[in-house]
Amino acid sequence: MKWKQQIHDMKAYQPGKPIEEVQREYGLDKIVKLASNENPYGFSPKVKAFLESDHTNHAIYPDGYAQILRTAVVEHLGVKETQLIFGNGSDDLIAIVTRALLYPGVNTVMAKPSFSQYSHNAEIEGAEVREVPLKDGKHDLNAMLEAIDENTSIVWVCNPNNPTGTIVSDEELSEFIQKVPQDVLIVLDEAYFEYVNAPEYKNTLHYVEENSNVIIMRTFSKAYGLASFRVGYAIANEDVISKLDPVRAPFNNTVLSHKVATIALQDQGFISECTEKNEKGKLQFVEFCEKHNLNFYPSQTNFILFEVKADSDLVFKEMMKRGFIIRSGKALSAPGYIRVTIGTEEQNAEFLHLLEELLKEQGVLA
Ligand SMILES: *Cc1c(COP(=O)(O)O)cnc(C)c1O
Repeated sequence: MKWKQQIHDMKAYQPGKPIEEVQREYGLDKIVKLASNENPYGFSPKVKAFLESDHTNHAIYPDGYAQILRTAVVEHLGVKETQLIFGNGSDDLIAIVTRALLYPGVNTVMAKPSFSQYSHNAEIEGAEVREVPLKDGKHDLNAMLEAIDENTSIVWVCNPNNPTGTIVSDEELSEFIQKVPQDVLIVLDEAYFEYVNAPEYKNTLHYVEENSNVIIMRTFSKAYGLASFRVGYAIANEDVISKLDPVRAPFNNTVLSHKVATIALQDQGFISECTEKNEKGKLQFVEFCEKHNLNFYPSQTNFILFEVKADSDLVFKEMMKRGFIIRSGKALSAPGYIRVTIGTEEQNAEFLHLLEELLKEQGVLA
């Protein structure tokens, strides 16, 4: 068949291993997944109560315009209805933006390592991918500016960045936005927005008002704990949204996903409870790294990338045998490191205890 040339050597996304698969493979009865930055506390109890009493008719197509959820987001953020687009997760939004703007002959600029879907989608469209190495674990915005030329269509700022958890400050971002040519779309991927508490990170909504080339992406998959429902949204200038909307599949969320995301958005108390617990959990990891002299990136998210001074694939495998699924840094362009989702206090303590034992066995720790 006449496949696109670039499809030939592409591989499907390698997700964090599913719990059931690891259970089967290693004959374990308890598995903790700290691999995909899901919320270890689940979702709002209000969503749970709703799901238990729900009688949605799933034979009916969902509202392609997502009116209920759209209104809830408008109220939550104070943006205009026409400034929003919803996706089947923000993965879908990344694909929509890419499909609308990239083709052979144009290029797109991003950090490395960063979220893999930016380059993956760009490759499918046959566009050139320009990856700019992180500097001290952070986006090197000056080098990214230099990588932009007249053929650049999209520049990606993953803020906070996955897999490092590091942020771009508002001051740096503001300067960057001013310098990027106005015909280049700037994507601010804020999948971990709710977790950030650094004062130098500020709300970016005003950039959408002031700049017609800025789009912000957020998701219900991480802090809201609704990864399985697949809901993300983007905020941009009305003209940008009206260009992207025809590229979107007509019914890209479900009736149920609209309802649960709406309820979850209205329970901000749950979000602050989870982010407070996340801060304490993060400290458990930071203290471990400091105690053992292991490098780590200062994370503003619910995961942390840190050094294990050992083969990260081996640590990944050995921890899996012990009942914990994490991500090997090797798969994330950070060999010698692992990325671990911050779990509950108990999960973190058990994980770090087992990791300490493993690293002693490996002769890394005394
Ligand atoms: C998890 C993640 C996404 C994708 O989330 P969805 O589940 O598709 O909404 C997007 N960007 C980053 C940086 C992520 O970590």
